[in-house]
Amino acid sequence: MTNSSIDHSAFQERLTSRVGQFDLSGKTLLIPEMASLGSRFLAAGFRAYGVPAKVMETYTGLNLGKELTSGKECFPCQVTLGDILYFLRQEKNRMGDSFRPDNYVYFMPEANGPCRFGMYNKLHRIILDKFPEFEDVAITYLSTADGYQSTAILPPEKSRLFRRLAYVATIIADVMDRTTWRVRPYEKIPGSTDKFMEEATRKMEEAIEKTGETRDFSSLYSVLSNIVQQAKKLMDSGKSRLPRIGIIGEIYLRTHTRSNQDIIREIESHGGEVVDASLGEWINFVTYSNLRETKRQWAQSWKSLDIKGLVESSRKWMSSRIEIQYQLWRQKQAYDHAMKHLDIQGDHPVDLLEKRLDNDRLFNFDIGTEAAISIGGALEYVHENFHGVVNVFPFTCMPSTICSAILKPMLLDKKIPYLDAPYDGSIQPNRDIAIRTFMYQAKQRQNKK
Ligand code: SF4
Repeated sequence: MTNSSIDHSAFQERLTSRVGQFDLSGKTLLIPEMASLGSRFLAAGFRAYGVPAKVMETYTGLNLGKELTSGKECFPCQVTLGDILYFLRQEKNRMGDSFRPDNYVYFMPEANGPCRFGMYNKLHRIILDKFPEFEDVAITYLSTADGYQSTAILPPEKSRLFRRLAYVATIIADVMDRTTWRVRPYEKIPGSTDKFMEEATRKMEEAIEKTGETRDFSSLYSVLSNIVQQAKKLMDSGKSRLPRIGIIGEIYLRTHTRSNQDIIREIESHGGEVVDASLGEWINFVTYSNLRETKRQWAQSWKSLDIKGLVESSRKWMSSRIEIQYQLWRQKQAYDHAMKHLDIQGDHPVDLLEKRLDNDRLFNFDIGTEAAISIGGALEYVHENFHGVVNVFPFTCMPSTICSAILKPMLLDKKIPYLDAPYDGSIQPNRDIAIRTFMYQAKQRQNKK
């Protein structure tokens, strides 16, 4: 055996033994912030099941993330790397000799292709291993491959229930975000929506944590209902409706306000009302894609008369079918509780997005990636009479570049304002002008209609 093959197997061993799915009992789970409310409610969901979880301060460590990468990585990979390194350094300084790296587990989910998200946690492992004091911080993940099942990181009796609480908590985060975007542009007192929603978020975190293993989602819905009802009172009903802008794009960038330089507020400051694609849409897409995959496996087994394959794929099909129905039912419950008080934007059903793509022969769910729901989502915004579409993404992101290539000429042809907004952490001097121009076009479109 050569030296290089010895190194290679040691390296492989680190990637499998220290990036994996293992029981989190007794460990502090470190969650990088993505969508602020979504991350905070996910952490509350973990705490409800006895896992001390915290959302790390974000973006402060960006320079660390950039220093330790080559510049070819996706921007979210650099931001999250900066978050974990910054947190661990601060924690070590704070705790001194009592700092125990093996008390922490870093949470970095993954996707099973075809783009680079599946590699973030491996790269982060390689970089953490450059610091002997952080070698023992394990990395864990949930994966799109099995629809974010948590069976390997929580005891079996808790895992299924946790997944359900995590899903409901995510949908509640979507609904609360949509409430903010519906109310804030029309608030009577500047700043009142943000102030109110910060307090409401704290209340919801407590409620999620308290719900624990009871599965009493009705108490969460009642807190949600009350929040939306109160938020509506902040609106000035005399203000006329602003041009509506739909955001699509890469999930991290479009939901992480620090990375996207707070584009929603920027658009609002130029007189727009914004709806960002939801987190729920992505989770439903993952479950829906797994359902499609089991159908494909069933057809293959049928062709080759593989009885074992037929039984296995039928079992998987049934389980994915139940899961997607359950998700849609829970999602509808949460939106209904909000919509009885306020006309927030409903979510896009994934099967409808697929039909939109097929009708126009633009893209296919078989190709996969977020491009499928982003292109479908943009078409759905157009169908819903939005006045403009913004594609927010990390510079060089593959699926978002595909979206841009398809959507830009098509929406231009339909005379629908469209803006590409790529980010890499630098300040683009012409961004403000691009948004102003885009909003001018959106207002013109609204006036025409
Ligand atoms: S979706 Fe874009 S940013 Fe995310 S991993 Fe893939 S290429 Fe990178």
